[in-house]
Amino acid sequence: MALIVHKYGGTSMGSTERIRLVAKRVAKWARAGHQMVVVPSAMSGETNRLLGLAKELAPAKPGDAYQRELDMLASTGEQVSVALLAIALQGEGMESVSYAGWQVPILTNSAHTKARIESIDDQKVRVDLAAGKVVIVTGFQGVDEAGNITTLGRGGSDTSAVAVAAAMKASECLIYTDVDGIYTTDPRVVPEARRLQTVGFEEMLEMASMGSKVLQIRSVEFAGKYKVPLRVLSSFTPWDIDIEIEAKSGTLITFEEDENMEQAIVSGIAFNRDEAKVSVLGVPDTPGIAYQILGAVADANIEVDVIIQNVSKDGKTDFSFTVHRNDYARTIDLLKEKVLPGLGANEITGDAKICKVSIVGIGMRSHVGVASKMFRCLSEEGINIQMISTSEIKTSVVIDEKYMELAVRALHKAFELDQPAA
Ligand code: ADP
Ligand code: ASP
Ligand code: MG
Repeated sequence: MALIVHKYGGTSMGSTERIRLVAKRVAKWARAGHQMVVVPSAMSGETNRLLGLAKELAPAKPGDAYQRELDMLASTGEQVSVALLAIALQGEGMESVSYAGWQVPILTNSAHTKARIESIDDQKVRVDLAAGKVVIVTGFQGVDEAGNITTLGRGGSDTSAVAVAAAMKASECLIYTDVDGIYTTDPRVVPEARRLQTVGFEEMLEMASMGSKVLQIRSVEFAGKYKVPLRVLSSFTPWDIDIEIEAKSGTLITFEEDENMEQAIVSGIAFNRDEAKVSVLGVPDTPGIAYQILGAVADANIEVDVIIQNVSKDGKTDFSFTVHRNDYARTIDLLKEKVLPGLGANEITGDAKICKVSIVGIGMRSHVGVASKMFRCLSEEGINIQMISTSEIKTSVVIDEKYMELAVRALHKAFELDQPAA
């Protein structure tokens, strides 16, 4: 008998029929003798719908008062899901109980709409499990010290599930979703994408941080920190599939590099449409410029990603960086008001229609020429690279958004990701 955490995403919880199938699957696992904790997301489309209602009433504002209410609002989607799943399980003859984040409690910091989990009190859940109940805990939400409901950022139910699994030292955390595992790239964009049997933790972390939304990055961080065995698999297999087969399906995130692991140079391609480029033109090329620009941006709690500074000409240079698209207008305003006047820069421009495409792979560490192969492939497609950033195991380029799918497909082919790894 093991303690297992299941997480079901929005599509998996998308209708009462789907919720019934989830209940049947969970009941199967419980009847096989496992202690089950289930973390569902809101029904698909619900979080968007709720946030859309807020937008109708007043435009999104960065202020805390507005963000607090967004969390009150968005968290209700998951509350509906847990109650419906508990009811469906009871309909299957299983004893079950649901909890909102604040009831567990899942304690977070107070950063509304992007809170971080600080601790989870598992006492209540353990008592219920010992009494033979299936316990359902809301994904995506928690509570801060002052009792305010918080949410963990879009896609945050993955993080809730892994954090619960870590806190309870679960044997495994199974992330059920609408694809049957982690692919070499998003199979919706490249139908030839190949499912990976295993993916190394570092690669998964990089894929998630480069925009592959199949797992929220914080969930991967948690899994790494607490060594939570993590598997991504489909909720669309027949619910009564043999449990042994189900337990080995999908993609396992691994923490050790073992010899049997698929060792391609590039393991996957991630892309991200959520960024925007900001350029400050004609800044004097003197010490402290990067700090003056980016310090002001950081003080406004805006995260910066790719940064480039051009060579200087006549003592002036151009400075560009990317931010999340949601922060784009705010960044431009901030620079115009607070930074430009003191900087002697000529102009601030920007482009919200960019995307970032990244190739990721542990194998890049020991192979030279991987980045140049990427650049050659893009040039053969006539795609202009606006910015480049690299780390040991990834190379990212910023390009015009309209070429994103073309770039991803071409790179997938160039790195032979549609072919099984040797
Ligand atoms: P859920 O609602 O279950 O959390 P998400 O929509 O958040 O599901 O994540 C699953 C989706 O992630 C898939 O439908 C797929 O389109 C997308 N995706 C992006 N990159 C990948 C990848 N490398 N492998 C698998 N799926 C990916
Ligand atoms: N319901 C939340 C969202 O749509 C959390 C999640 O699905 O993981 O972002
Ligand atoms: Mg998700």
